[in-house]
Amino acid sequence: MPRNRFFDKMRPLITAKWQAFRAWQKHPISYRMDKSEHVCNNCGHTFRGNYCPVCSQSARHGRITWLAMWQGIAQLWGIESRSAVYTLWQLFLRPGYLVRDYISGKRQVSYPPVKLLFILAAVVTLARYFFPVPDPEPSQIGFKYLDLASDWLGSHQNISELLNGCVLILPTWFLFRKAPNYPNHTIPEGFYLQVYLAILSYIFYSVFVGHSGIASALTLCYNYMAYKQLFGFGYWGTLWRLTICIALSFTILLLIALVCLIPIFLQS
Ligand SMILES: [Zn+2]
Repeated sequence: MPRNRFFDKMRPLITAKWQAFRAWQKHPISYRMDKSEHVCNNCGHTFRGNYCPVCSQSARHGRITWLAMWQGIAQLWGIESRSAVYTLWQLFLRPGYLVRDYISGKRQVSYPPVKLLFILAAVVTLARYFFPVPDPEPSQIGFKYLDLASDWLGSHQNISELLNGCVLILPTWFLFRKAPNYPNHTIPEGFYLQVYLAILSYIFYSVFVGHSGIASALTLCYNYMAYKQLFGFGYWGTLWRLTICIALSFTILLLIALVCLIPIFLQS
């Protein structure tokens, strides 16, 4: 059978590619010390290494080139050396491992995530200026302050994604604190996990505007992938824990909504 022979030929190649991809997912970056000698263009100190030990200027900085000009402009948008674009690329292909690296102390692998969320909001706002989408329907809960709050959150979706994520922090801590790959994670670490997930869901809801079903499905898939990669429970172990987490977070949201409503009911 020619078709089978084709697959037999391709199988080792695909296996090798897949294994290389898995290795990259777990450890994408390796650092090398620059051992050649440099004279710092800023302070004149002679040194070996990537950065001047006296004034901390990078050994790569010299006269302005086309690349330096582009980097200078890109800095305005926060797209600097720890590239925001590469961080997003990693977030799509190795979400849980990226979070693990960042919260365990490998800060250089990622663009600062909170900053990234707000820069994305600026980029989306700019994009909406050129490609407008219909405004969301004004909220009609019937209570002035709740409607105001709901409308504000509707127009600041990056913040509402983050708040949505925040109610997952405690359930996640409770159910995943004994995880095999990242045991005893702290509440601040849980917060950063939710920041990264908020970045993803913000992108999905901005790209698939008007198709919130697709955005929700993608968000759920990525939550599952990130939790699985970060915490290292099995397929089923991750699934039931995450399902309970999401159910608990809805309960928390409902309780918060009720607490907000009580004073309004007491007034009327
Ligand atoms: Zn220097």
